[in-house]
Amino acid sequence: MSDSVSSATDEPVLPLTDQYPEIREAVAKLCEGFPGEYWREKDEARAYPTEFVQALTDSGFLSVLIPEEYGGAGLPLSAGAAILEEIHKNGCSGAACHAQMYTMGTVLRHGNDEQKKQYLPKIASGELRLQAFGVTEPTSGTDTLSLRTTAVRDGDEYVVNGQKVWTSRAEHSDLMLLLARTTPKDKVAKRTDGLSVFLVDMRAVKGKGMEIKPIRTMINHNTTEIFYDNMRIPASSLIGEEGKGFRYILDGMNAERVLVSSEALGDCQWFAKMASTYATERVVFGKPIGTNQGIQFPIAEAYAHFTGAQMMVQKAAALFEAGLPCGAEANIGKYLAGEAVWKAADTCMQTYGGFAFAEEYHIERKFREARIFRTAPISSNLVLSFVAEHVLGMPRSY
Ligand SMILES: Cc1cc2nc3c(=O)[nH]c(=O)nc-3n(C[C@H](O)[C@H](O)[C@H](O)COP(=O)(O)OP(=O)(O)OC[C@H]3O[C@@H](n4cnc5c(N)ncnc54)[C@H](O)[C@@H]3O)c2cc1C
Repeated sequence: MSDSVSSATDEPVLPLTDQYPEIREAVAKLCEGFPGEYWREKDEARAYPTEFVQALTDSGFLSVLIPEEYGGAGLPLSAGAAILEEIHKNGCSGAACHAQMYTMGTVLRHGNDEQKKQYLPKIASGELRLQAFGVTEPTSGTDTLSLRTTAVRDGDEYVVNGQKVWTSRAEHSDLMLLLARTTPKDKVAKRTDGLSVFLVDMRAVKGKGMEIKPIRTMINHNTTEIFYDNMRIPASSLIGEEGKGFRYILDGMNAERVLVSSEALGDCQWFAKMASTYATERVVFGKPIGTNQGIQFPIAEAYAHFTGAQMMVQKAAALFEAGLPCGAEANIGKYLAGEAVWKAADTCMQTYGGFAFAEEYHIERKFREARIFRTAPISSNLVLSFVAEHVLGMPRSY
């Protein structure tokens, strides 16, 4: 795949929709095998889309960002963004497996040689699934620095105690990236010190100090809460330096923002296509409903918001690939994409009238799914406080 696709670094930057046409075509073809009915059934059963994830893994799409020396395609971030956007544009969902793309970045950038050689080739081949990312806790929520899960060194091991919530895909993963406190909050020199990242081999600890409880949610997201009770992991699970984990996690967040925003952008296009097609075909009062500006303007407006969001996400990806600061662009892109997809989803619901509520049309399901982008992985409020403080220089609100 990598041979036939030009890298964004040696070509002029094109809109995301124009980049990686061959990859996009291949993803669209793969998605044809997973129609709306497949997703409706999974949603109803709250079941993991194993077949879809396997097909993506077998095609190499989940490992495009892993360097070639570790068995991946070694493509830049915008290739991953193109894949996730295309998945969503074609009515499928990358939520079951998108973490496989971005969580490995922490191992790649901060892991030691041994860890990289041991894990990355197996993640690239799909032999090992790195789908779980344990950061959020029930008591601290967005305030990551107040998390309470501890990892205490004991000889050649760390002993982990605490609780996480919203650890998605934990039941469908072999490995997990876990953020835990290794130095008490009142003993650190800098408030951002004292947290550490671990690459946990879940196969060794499930049922032995790690208890996973699924949470049923309004979308099929396979999310869980996890209880850690004297869970022992080898000291070699530590990624990078002890106490620097918060920085490592932050480091990967811009890539995560770009990738998740791309899913929202894909959904925007799916909603626009569904709404404009229905508005053109549905005849009421003797003419297509799309001839009424009350119907066509909101669809066009949602599409305009999508194109603006897409440009910002594209800019963030280009800056990231050039190794330049992109915090503001990645955050603003995430905000705009989250708002754009919600507008697109609501407009599509309105365009379909009563039929939007019928499960067989898939609009209500996609509408529910579209709401997550305003909440996770970062909520719109927290993006706005980042922009207020770091871009506009206003006082910190928390
Ligand atoms: C389906 C799903 C999957 C998820 N998957 C994962 C995962 O895999 N791994 C993981 O670690 N986490 C995951 N999350 C967690 C997600 O990132 C958090 O839910 C999110 O960051 C918000 O945290 P919270 O729910 O505790 O909200 P809180 O922090 O309690 O905030 C509640 C509300 O208050 C607002 N708020 C809080 N502080 C401020 C402030 N200072 N200024 C203005 N507004 C504020 C927030 O924006 C939010 O709207 C997932 C969540 C969901 C719903």
